[in-house]
Amino acid sequence: MELSLRLSAIAELVTEGNRLVDVGCDHGYLPVYLVEKKKIPGAVAADVGKGPLSRAEEHIRQSGLETYIETRLSNGLQEIKKGEGDTLVIAGMGGPLMERILSEGRRTLAGFQELILQPQSDVPHVRRYLFMNGFRITEERVVLEDGKFYFIVKAIPAAGNNSRIPEVPWTEEEFLFGKFLLENRNPILKKYLQRELMIRDRILDRIAGADMPGEKAVTRRNEVEEERRLILAALKRYES
Ligand code: SAM
Repeated sequence: MELSLRLSAIAELVTEGNRLVDVGCDHGYLPVYLVEKKKIPGAVAADVGKGPLSRAEEHIRQSGLETYIETRLSNGLQEIKKGEGDTLVIAGMGGPLMERILSEGRRTLAGFQELILQPQSDVPHVRRYLFMNGFRITEERVVLEDGKFYFIVKAIPAAGNNSRIPEVPWTEEEFLFGKFLLENRNPILKKYLQRELMIRDRILDRIAGADMPGEKAVTRRNEVEEERRLILAALKRYES
């Protein structure tokens, strides 16, 4: 089975031998792929929707993997027991929903060794959320697929890992765009930054072209100029 670039990047980040819990599994492609490849021994494929879950069930059955992958109707982590999995994947949903699932499932969350998250929106907020809730980001990926950029973060609980992950504070642009992606001068991130810069330039041109910018326009211009400054600071890292 072939995975999309986005799901392949997520699959790559899953630690070999770990039991997976995929919350919001939809079609169940990820657990099926990982078990088929023998990268993981088993998984729980969970979804809040009966429709998506039956799609996953069908796919698992067709692959003959019912013994290894259990499907479960679950709103977030509600029906997942603590210690049932080592890796938690939540992918393809908005950042605010993801954060709600993590907050409401706090007790269950404590049983996981690693989280792999791919928020569809509010990625910087999710990065901050992880730091403020006792996790440390250890790896990042960005994928460009069908004209869309997807950011993926892998995080582990900070407690007990202090020696492995030094407390180096992240800068504003590292929270915005991803510390490790910037450090590695990730070429896809560069494309993303260039596109974001172009968008800000267009907005500023539009504001400048307006006859009499009102107070709102001035506030907006200041915001966009600040965003532009941070994008340029991030792009500067590609120069040295
Ligand atoms: N994770 C897959 C991926 O990345 O390709 C599927 C993403 S799909 C766009 C989002 C899935 O999340 C849907 O199947 C939806 O039913 C499920 N979902 C939304 N809210 C959820 C919640 N609170 N708990 C569990 N699943 C949820």
